[in-house]
Parts: sequence; C-alpha cells; structure tokens
Amino acid sequence: MNAKEWAQQVVKPAEIEKYLIGGKDFIDPAAIAEDLAAGVRPDRSRVRDILQKSLEIKILTPAETATLLNVEEPELLEEMREAAFEVKRRVYDNRIVFFAPLYCSNLCVNNCVYCGFRSDNGAERRHVLTMDEIRRETEAVIDEGHKRLIAVYGEHPRSDADYIAESMGQIYATKRTTPSGSGFNSIRRINVNAAPMSIDDLRKLWRAGIGTYQVFQETYHPDRYAELHPAGTIKGNYRWRLYAMHRAIDAGIDDVAIGALFGLYDWRFEVMGLLYHALDLERQFGIGPHTVSFPRMQPALGSFVSENSPYLVRDDAFRRLVTVLRLAIPYSGLIVTARERADLRREIIRYGCTQTDASTKIGIGAYSEKKRQGENADKVQFTLGDERSLDEVVRELAQDGFITSFCTAGYRCGRTGDKIMSLLEKGVEGRFCKLNAVLTFREYLNDYASPATRRIGEELIRRELDEIERTPFFTEKRLLPTFRSYYERIAAGERDLYM
Ligand code: SAM
Ligand code: SF4
Repeated sequence: MNAKEWAQQVVKPAEIEKYLIGGKDFIDPAAIAEDLAAGVRPDRSRVRDILQKSLEIKILTPAETATLLNVEEPELLEEMREAAFEVKRRVYDNRIVFFAPLYCSNLCVNNCVYCGFRSDNGAERRHVLTMDEIRRETEAVIDEGHKRLIAVYGEHPRSDADYIAESMGQIYATKRTTPSGSGFNSIRRINVNAAPMSIDDLRKLWRAGIGTYQVFQETYHPDRYAELHPAGTIKGNYRWRLYAMHRAIDAGIDDVAIGALFGLYDWRFEVMGLLYHALDLERQFGIGPHTVSFPRMQPALGSFVSENSPYLVRDDAFRRLVTVLRLAIPYSGLIVTARERADLRREIIRYGCTQTDASTKIGIGAYSEKKRQGENADKVQFTLGDERSLDEVVRELAQDGFITSFCTAGYRCGRTGDKIMSLLEKGVEGRFCKLNAVLTFREYLNDYASPATRRIGEELIRRELDEIERTPFFTEKRLLPTFRSYYERIAAGERDLYM
C-alpha cells in the first residue's frame, strides 16, 4: 500500500458517529459566541462567586468560564491569578513534573500550514528513527536524568501504530547505569503525541504501556480548522480529530490529554473549546482530561501563517488564558513547554502549570547528536524559546520552592482515569504524590544534580521531610514507616521505590 492508499483507509466514520449527540458535535461555534457575548463586563461579586467554586475544585460551566474570560480590570485579574495559585496549591501542592519530548519521525502525509513537518515543505530533511537510533536518543535523554518522556510522531505509514508500539518497547527496554553508580535509570512512563487513530490501533498503544495519549485539536473553530488543514488530507477531517480521545478511552487508555494550538484563532474561543471538550469527556465517560496543553504557535520553517497569523497571542493574553484554564478545569494538569521563554515559563508555573519539559531537543536524532536547534533547523518542527538543561530548570524552580517530581507511580499503581480524578478532587492523590516526589527528587539529587542544584535541593527536601512528618494524613494512614524506610534505602543507593 502506498502512502496515499494508506491515508485513505485511516478514518473510520463509524468511530466518529457513535460519539455524536443527536448527530451534533459538542462544539457549537454559535453557542460559544453567545456564551462569550453574555459574559462581557462581569460584575465583581459574580466573578468572586465563580472563584469560590474553583477553589472547591469543581469544573466551571461554559457561562462561568466565559465570564472569567471577559474580565479586563487589572485588580480583578490579579485576584483571579491568586485564586489560580491557591487552586493549584490545593490540588498539586508545590510539585512540578518534568518530561522530555522525543521526536521519532518527521515524515507526514498532512499539510498543516503552520507546521515545519507539513508534506509541502521541501526544505525539511525527513527521517524516521530506526530502533537503534531510538535507543541512542533514549540513552541521551536518560543521561540528563529524565524518567518520563513524550514520544512525538508525524502521521505516515512508516510511523503507524505498529511502529509507535515498537518504538515504545525500545524506549522502555533502554537502561543506563546512573552516574553515581546506584543501579539503573530508565524511562518509566511514555506519553505519546501522535495523530488520531482507530480504536484497534489505540489498543496497540495501550498494550505497549502508553501513559497519556495526547492530541491537540489545534483550533476548535470548524471553519478556521478547514482553512488550515487542507481537505483531502487525513487531518482535514475535523471530526476524526475531535473524537480522538473518545476512541482512546474506548480502547482502554484512560489518561487522555487535550490541547489547542494558540495563535490559530481567537484565544477566548479556544479556551471555551477546551472546556466543552473536557465537559463532553466527563459526560460520556466520567473522565476529564489528565492534562490540558496550550502551546503557542512558534515560527516554523517556511510557514507564513506561523509568523503572521492575525490571532497570534501576546504575553498578556497568554497569562490570562493560563489563569482561566487553571480555574475552569481545576483537576487537570496544565503543561507549559520549552516553546515559551524562561521568564514567562517561571511565572506561569507559579499560578498555573503542573508539568514542563527541559533539556529539550526537537530535531530528529538531536539528543544523541547533541545538536542545538540552530544546528539542525531543517529537521525541527518549530523554534524553541528555552533550551536550558534539566539541571538549570530544576535549580531555578527549587529556588522558587517547587519540588521536581519524576513520579510515575500513579500510572503503575492503577491511579489513572476516573480513579485519579476523584483522588485529585479530594486532594488525596496530591498527598501520595508528595511522598513520591520526595523519593524521586532524592534519586535525582544523588544521581544527576550539579553541586549548585544539590545545595538548593537539599534545603528544599529537608523542608519537605519536615512537612511530611507534621502532616496528620500520613500518620493516620500509617504511611510514614514505609516512606521513611524507602527514603533511607534510596539514599543508600536503591532505585525505583514508590508508594
Ligand atoms: N502529527 C501529530 C499531530 O499533528 O497530531 C502529532 C505530532 S505534531 C508534531 C504535535 C503538535 O505540534 C501539533 O499537534 C501542533 O499543535 C504542534 N505544532 C505544530 N506546528 C507548531 C508551531 N509552528 N509552533 C508550535 N507548535 C506547533
Ligand atoms: Fe503533520 Fe502533525 Fe505537523 Fe500536521 S502538525 S504537518 S499532522 S506533524
């Protein structure tokens, strides 16, 4: 089968239709426009009532979200930011989860006008990593100290579900001796960002041990979507993409991640789209998104739109959209990536984001070749705003009081999907995560941290240990003896012990 024939059989109409409600999508542009129009010039007491609801860790309604999106008053915006900070603290405490993206292929049958991988881009050098190359890339990522990664793929028969599953097997099988000589380090959780697939294909990823499956809708506005994704390509099918997560849950993957590419259409509309998506997943499956992403469009090789879209989002609007997302879907993790500049990343991590990447390379094969982005501009998808190492970012966040977590226990202990959601809403998962954050931070400080990071990290970990000893929950649940013994064993050189 050639690539064209392959592309023609990917979309399965029956796997779209089964999720429609009365033949309709959960996105109705007219209804979103009405929500937004009805929310203009909100009064203060209404906004404060909505903030109170977020603080109770309840997902907001579209009308409530539209109200927050319409706040313009600087003082009120500041109150929203403080409420967002408090919501984040209640659900995720001071933890920040790190991951690294691993780009496995840049061959693509689609032609998204904003992406360096689009099929029309003749300047892009194409490559699909072999299993040997995947091993070498994984080794380089592990050697930075990472334990979680997101594998990223173009859509092509050479990087189909079988290839993705095989590459995941290779990643999980790759082990490295730690620099301190304390056992092995390996990738303990693989999340995947790849094109929407059929339920059968998604089952292959589930069997290969996928963590979170991530697909961004790019824009939720159907007409704008059609302008950016040529008809006749797989990605030109808006609905096939809109129900990607519905199919994933049906395939058994219950950690699903949504996102929109900000800069393609009005940012307020996209926030509403993300909310309606979360609400539909809750309604149809009782599971909301594990994470929400809001990548901002960056310049991509030869792409006019990526630099000239009329909807490019400025920093101020970006801060606001992160704040509203934090408040609107309080239980979901929010991911900020190295697309963003260091200073902005630091700021929005404080009041919104729970996950981020570092030591990021998005060129195909760039980790093992140790290439910076300027050295392989013809193999990247877009330009990064922050190329700092994991060690540098971990240190900066530790200075700000944030503890780095490489925890992957939730998924390995079955705390996923609806189970993790109710634990997050009640603040229980956060407590387990605190213990696992400290255990994995101990591993990192011993194995990979530079002397400067270790100095700051040791202070932070002492404060965390103190807090754990003083928290009644841990005593009541009799978790302290096991935790203390794991901590001592890790400090003495054992690895991968979790609660
Ligand atoms: N090919 C798959 C797909 O489109 O779903 C997955 C991989 S694609 C490389 C991952 C994401 O990168 C896309 O969903 C899009 O949101 C984002 N992206 C594409 N072009 C971008 C740009 N110029 N700046 C920032 N992000 C971009
Ligand atoms: Fe291909 Fe994804 Fe880039 Fe579109 S965004 S061209 S589907 S890699």
